[in-house]
Amino acid sequence: MTKIVSSLGMKKDFIIELKKKLETPQKVVILPHKNPDGDALGSTLALMHFLIKNNHQADVVSPNEYPAFLNWLPGQEKVLKYNRSPKDVRNKIESATLIFTLDFNSLSRVGDLEPLIQKSKAEKIMIDHHESPNDYAVLMYSDVSMSSTCEMVYNVIESLDSKAFNSEIANCLYTGIMTDTGSFRYPATTPATHKAIAHLIKTGASSTEIHQKIYDSSSFSRLKLLGITLSNLKQIQNLPIVFMTLTQGELNSCDYKKGDTEGFVNYGLSLENIVFSCIMIENESEGIIKMSFRSQGEFSVNNFARFYFNGGGHHNAAGGMSTDSIEATIIRFEKAVQEVADNF
Ligand code: 5GP
Ligand code: MN
Repeated sequence: MTKIVSSLGMKKDFIIELKKKLETPQKVVILPHKNPDGDALGSTLALMHFLIKNNHQADVVSPNEYPAFLNWLPGQEKVLKYNRSPKDVRNKIESATLIFTLDFNSLSRVGDLEPLIQKSKAEKIMIDHHESPNDYAVLMYSDVSMSSTCEMVYNVIESLDSKAFNSEIANCLYTGIMTDTGSFRYPATTPATHKAIAHLIKTGASSTEIHQKIYDSSSFSRLKLLGITLSNLKQIQNLPIVFMTLTQGELNSCDYKKGDTEGFVNYGLSLENIVFSCIMIENESEGIIKMSFRSQGEFSVNNFARFYFNGGGHHNAAGGMSTDSIEATIIRFEKAVQEVADNF
């Protein structure tokens, strides 16, 4: 089997091979990463709509729940969640002929689903914009310069059948491009991104409504939790670095629900002269501290997360974890930033 690795310049080969695979009806499983965000859920659902329109069977299978602010995306009600319906998910994966993996670069990112995917005989196709992709797919469209996986799925659909866009596909793709670009402001936002967005609005994406649903749908308790997070904000002495913490007790006091802390880490970068922000969030049931890192400019939080906190992601947005207590994790973080202090 020939492997086709596609970057911007090689996209044609990826499309040619993908077209061949889609010539006959397929049973397709489409996977986002664990704890799917707007880009992961938007891209998988858009691809599902496109494939169903083209007479394939297609299901989005998520390792677990997604945040409530995404529970209006067209088709989200059909998503099969492994934590809720393990039997159905197992059956789908066992009978699949093609598996698309979207918005992640390593099978470990699908959590407990990993062994099932490893075992499956279905051909795997990766579409993703994270650095250092692992080598498990027969077809790869991997491009770290892309704003989002949704922009890549836009390119794929545009190349396969530019007439296929409808309001369902457009709303899903707009959402993921918007959330992964911080509303079109991060550096990976290019003229091509805006061109795609213009086309998606033309074909049915309701931009004002999407912004409202994502950014103006906060619960009272989530805003209170943001207040606690910001009052926990600390700066590392003499460095342009801040961090925030949330203990399980603080989360519980604000009736924490999945997705409530999304975006909190970005507030650190809204400070003048701060170029690195971190949030550490205690998760008692998993026995870990989940960490999110954001940077502005040169400093690679992807490398930092990989080296110090068993994680990864993008140059300016990454995540990781620690199995120490929150106090010990803070100490480890403070030591780690002193080690890389020369980079600031
Ligand atoms: P977030 O901080 O929003 O959870 O994630 C930021 C970026 O880092 C996302 O692209 C996400 O996929 C990636 N990421 C988050 N946590 C991890 C992790 O534990 N491991 C890896 N490899 N990537 C992560
Ligand atoms: Mn993404």
